[in-house]
Amino acid sequence: MSTPEFSREAKKHLGQNFLHDHGVIDKIVRAINPQPGDALVEIGPGQGALTFPLLRRHGALTAIEFDRDLHAPLQAAAREHGRLQLIEGDVLGVDFTALAAASGDAHGTIRLAGNLPYNLSSPILFHALDHAAVIRDMHFMLQKEVVERMAAGPGSKVYGRLSVMLQAYCTVTPLFVVPPGAFRPAPKVDSAVVRMLPFPPERIEVRNRGTFAAVVRAAFGQRRKTLRNALGGVAEAAVIEAAGLRVDARAEQVEVAGFVRLANLLANS
Ligand code: SAM
Repeated sequence: MSTPEFSREAKKHLGQNFLHDHGVIDKIVRAINPQPGDALVEIGPGQGALTFPLLRRHGALTAIEFDRDLHAPLQAAAREHGRLQLIEGDVLGVDFTALAAASGDAHGTIRLAGNLPYNLSSPILFHALDHAAVIRDMHFMLQKEVVERMAAGPGSKVYGRLSVMLQAYCTVTPLFVVPPGAFRPAPKVDSAVVRMLPFPPERIEVRNRGTFAAVVRAAFGQRRKTLRNALGGVAEAAVIEAAGLRVDARAEQVEVAGFVRLANLLANS
């Protein structure tokens, strides 16, 4: 029987931009810096650009790939590098908490990595956030502009819902920029690698995740409006002030801790 081979075609609708720059691949592997016993989980292994170097370095890896055409070639090519456990399906349907429990990692945690399909970046980040308690760290390649939004602080033009939601649960650190030429086909935009370290549970101050998410969504839903107006249906002026916030401030001026205080007051009331 012939060995299954990777197609030369990249599927745009699956966000397939395959890395081929060995310098960049090496930098990502060094940033992840796998240690013995770590349970590594890669999202979107594609044609194995990161998967095989990680397998050679670490010996074993779990990867989640949606594209059926890649499953057989990936399994076949992985054999000479290490032990690949391939989950064939949509990462948004993968229960990371169950995966961590089954991973055999001494701490019951997983380490997530991947050059993400850019069309699904935000849903994947929010999905990971839902399982942050079992995720030790994350190293993702994303559009540079998305990484800037993730890491932005108050006062920045790109500070928004994504910044606040992620920074309430994780430290977000942009690592390095990757030019379009590192990929095949080349995307139209620059990319960047980001590291996220979820806080330990005792450091998370958000009392009710749903209330917090609703407050942040409403505040940035109409970012030009004052908090009093944007939060009209969610929080009364007196509660906004009790949280130490000015009712005439706009969401982009409020630091993460301010949203947390407001959401916690609402959750208690
Ligand atoms: N890791 C490879 C690399 O760096 O060359 C491929 C990266 S490519 C940007 C994104 C990968 O995610 C593709 O292989 C694509 O098929 C896969 N993918 C797209 N949507 C997915 C989903 N919902 N779940 C899992 N994988 C997905």
